[in-house]
Amino acid sequence: AAKERGKHRLARYEPSLDHDAHEYARLGAQLRRAIDEGELYLVYQPIVELPAGRTVAAEALVRWQDPERGFVPPDVFIPVAERNGLIVPLGEWILREACRQATQWQPRDGHAVHRISVNVSARQLREPAFPATVAAILAETGLDAGRLVVEITETAVFDGGVALDSVRALHGLGVTVALDDFGTGHSSLGLLRTCPVDVLKVDKSFVDEVTTQSDQAVIATALIQIAGGLRLQAVAEGVETADQATRLHQLGYRYAQGYHFARPMPAADLTRLLQADTPDSVPA
Ligand code: C2E
Ligand code: MG
Ligand code: MG
Ligand code: MG
Repeated sequence: AAKERGKHRLARYEPSLDHDAHEYARLGAQLRRAIDEGELYLVYQPIVELPAGRTVAAEALVRWQDPERGFVPPDVFIPVAERNGLIVPLGEWILREACRQATQWQPRDGHAVHRISVNVSARQLREPAFPATVAAILAETGLDAGRLVVEITETAVFDGGVALDSVRALHGLGVTVALDDFGTGHSSLGLLRTCPVDVLKVDKSFVDEVTTQSDQAVIATALIQIAGGLRLQAVAEGVETADQATRLHQLGYRYAQGYHFARPMPAADLTRLLQADTPDSVPA
């Protein structure tokens, strides 16, 4: 997947971590240094309301531009950080930074970041102190709990245990819970009975061929019906074309995210987008 998405980028680091323990350890050490040196940063991708494409929320996504390696994609370094435990302090920094930024985007009428979505990994959820950390960050930044969305994956909570307790505690704080990459994990449907979920993020793989392959459209349709039946919001991920956006809207999707609407961008760029005079003319 990294290779696929890397096609249009220069200097993209291509790891073979599975085969090279030494390289893995080196990457971990460099990541530790990068975190200490403040070399990681966040970008924000708009989540829009269909059909007009008005921004209503944003997802925070972490970035690492290494002087030597170039751009290291998060799906390469997040698993490293999960394995060596760095994800705990890193994840806390990401949450604090995203919450702080969201307070700068107070919702007004029209184009606004009403909610900020933050990805939380399984390892973070397994820390018993995690809900207290989130509560402390909300208090410290002054962000309303209802404006924070925590994106978790099915895999992270499917074993139950502390991770599930954490999700319940977060929900109890008033934080919104979203299931990311919905439909790709092992326990999609059963989990909805035990885990408090407010939002389903329907995986890009179901969106990709929604206009071309009828079986994919059937799954996208079934998923929106499940969301509706359970009174959950649904967000279609990875929308790349106008045809997909139109089709998803016809199927009943109200929210979408993807390159067709906007790519992840620095906070200042999103601020400018929100302030634009013609909020409905979202760049493709
Ligand atoms: P995700 O949470 O499912 O994030 C969506 C990914 O899809 C992002 O990639 C985003 O840039 C990409 N994307 C959005 N729209 C499109 C589109 O239209 N087409 C295509 N091809 N891609 C699209 P990114 O930023 O590389 O992140 C990849 C994954 O890394 C994320 O998947 C998430 O699992 C993880 N990740 C990123 N940031 C964080 C973070 O701060 N914390 C944690 N724990 N994980 C993170
Ligand atoms: Mg996500
Ligand atoms: Mg996702
Ligand atoms: Mg994903």
